Amino acid sequence: MKDFGLDVWSDNNFIIKHDTININYGLEPSLYEITQQIRNQGYKGPLLLRFPHIIKKQISTLFETFNAARETFDYQGTFNAVFPLKVNQFPNFVHALMDVSKEYNYGLEAGSKAELVIAMSKTPLGAPITINGFKDKEMISMCFIAAKMGHNITITIEGLDELESIIQVNQEFNEESDTPILPKIGVRIRLHSSGIGIWAKSGGYNSKFGLTSTELIEAYELLKKHNLLEHLGMIHFHIGSQMGDIAPLKKALREAGNIYAELKKRGANNLSAINIGGGLAVEYSQHAHDKERNYSLSEFANDVIYLMQEIAKNKNVPQPDIFTESGRYIAASHSVLVAPVLELFSQEYHEKCLRLKSENPPLIEELNDLYNTMSRTNAREYLHDALDHMESLLTLFDLGYIDLEDRSNTETFVNLIVKKAIALLRSENTDELKQLQDRVQEKYLVNFSIFQSLPDFWGLEQEFPIMPLTHLNKIPTNPASIWDITCDSDGEIEFNRDYPLYLHDIDLDKEEYFLGFFLTGAYQEVLGMQHNLFTHPTECIINFDETGNYKIDGLIEAQNLMDVLDDMDYDTSLIDKTLKQHIELSERLTAEEKRELLGKLYLHLSENSYLKTIQAIDELI
Ligand SMILES: *Cc1c(COP(=O)(O)O)cnc(C)c1O
Repeated sequence: MKDFGLDVWSDNNFIIKHDTININYGLEPSLYEITQQIRNQGYKGPLLLRFPHIIKKQISTLFETFNAARETFDYQGTFNAVFPLKVNQFPNFVHALMDVSKEYNYGLEAGSKAELVIAMSKTPLGAPITINGFKDKEMISMCFIAAKMGHNITITIEGLDELESIIQVNQEFNEESDTPILPKIGVRIRLHSSGIGIWAKSGGYNSKFGLTSTELIEAYELLKKHNLLEHLGMIHFHIGSQMGDIAPLKKALREAGNIYAELKKRGANNLSAINIGGGLAVEYSQHAHDKERNYSLSEFANDVIYLMQEIAKNKNVPQPDIFTESGRYIAASHSVLVAPVLELFSQEYHEKCLRLKSENPPLIEELNDLYNTMSRTNAREYLHDALDHMESLLTLFDLGYIDLEDRSNTETFVNLIVKKAIALLRSENTDELKQLQDRVQEKYLVNFSIFQSLPDFWGLEQEFPIMPLTHLNKIPTNPASIWDITCDSDGEIEFNRDYPLYLHDIDLDKEEYFLGFFLTGAYQEVLGMQHNLFTHPTECIINFDETGNYKIDGLIEAQNLMDVLDDMDYDTSLIDKTLKQHIELSERLTAEEKRELLGKLYLHLSENSYLKTIQAIDELI
């Protein structure tokens, strides 16, 4: 795993050059170089780097692949796409997204009032806006305002009561008008077919959303009765996110295609579009034997186009325009979280930790000998001997025959021997070796919060590719567990024998070591929680110019401590006053000391929560 599965998950966005991971774009700078440039400006802690060129690549690949499929099948409908804002609403992302997608008439999807405001202000007039999720009359009014502004907006109704609200709001907005302006109406259909995987609940008969066939007919009649049928433009379904298998999509497409055709035949003359929702999966796996997605984008596109065409031809209706709302596929790859390793937790097992005496118990001498003479051919036998000696030595300690230093030497030797055996026997890959790896795994304390930056790992065990930014010319040998800096034992990515992560053995006193967490651009940021009050990390945008050079834009520093408390509705001026008063009233300080202490305190309050450095143990001893 020297390349950390780069060919499985990176989609050629990154390459290894010499010993670093570099961006496969422009002059191919390394992530390490960019990280250092930002840190040199004084920003410590984790960094979130955004790459607009990758967003652009995803959008253009989506459009080009679907348009190629349309050409192949001589498809009559158009292809259109919107970005579902719930996947990432951060301004640095949304602005980059709208900027790189201009030529595609790309729009936004909103599922709440606040998202609707983003969609109304950021979507170019004419580009599609779709509105899903539960809506009250106020939200529907906002959609009418958007339509009157000139937006190409479709309200997808999730239930019959929403349709009734639309009818009422339409009366309020268009009562007097001969040329009423209103949003297009879409209906979300409740399919029999459902997705698979952890996010499958969005589809299927028990899903939270959509109209059953009976409700659909009722909706049709209601629209007709209120002269709104001509505004019914779209049907919509969404079978769940990160769809690993293509089969459920095909079933859903057949079901939805037939519903479309039935409504057309019934008289929904302006119904012209099928919105297939999101669900296009991202390959997060770092291991070729464990891929999460069993199809390519072109298979996906061909299936959609082919099936819709077939149904339209069979039922003799026009071929529908296709809309997608893929979010994960567009956003996931655009950002990388870079976090410094603060400490390695098995340094105590280094050779330099041995405290050998002039005379040691015979079994310890024996361990010393095993360690020094171990070779590939005898490794297994010596390993077994060492484990056996350890049992005896621990018993001797319990009985009082050896002292604490002997016991410490035992632990250190056995750990060193196990590590050496694993390295020597690496090619054998037996169960025994795998189990031993659990025992010698190294804990890497990393300056970030899993709750803030990888919430789907915490909540759903979604894996994300992880790799170091440097040392890539060396094979990593430490089975690694990753600890974040929260005070919560859930803040750990444990070593997993079946999907092992190995990292390098680094002396952090001598050099820095950074980990990159990839494919974090979808959902993670807004789902991230401020457990222990660790906030959204410092972020920036990496833009490339025509010469291939990059520049760092849109830098937003992680919130400082007082802003974090302010966000939680603490009265920070009161906190400030209290702290000042405590110092002021302290009888043990001189005026000069008070001033100095206050200065120091303010310096700390202006920083963010993440750690700056950790004192190396060696320096303390
Ligand atoms: C969440 C959602 C999406 C986006 O799904 P992805 O799997 O991220 O592509 C699209 N449409 C609707 C209605 C959604 O709820």
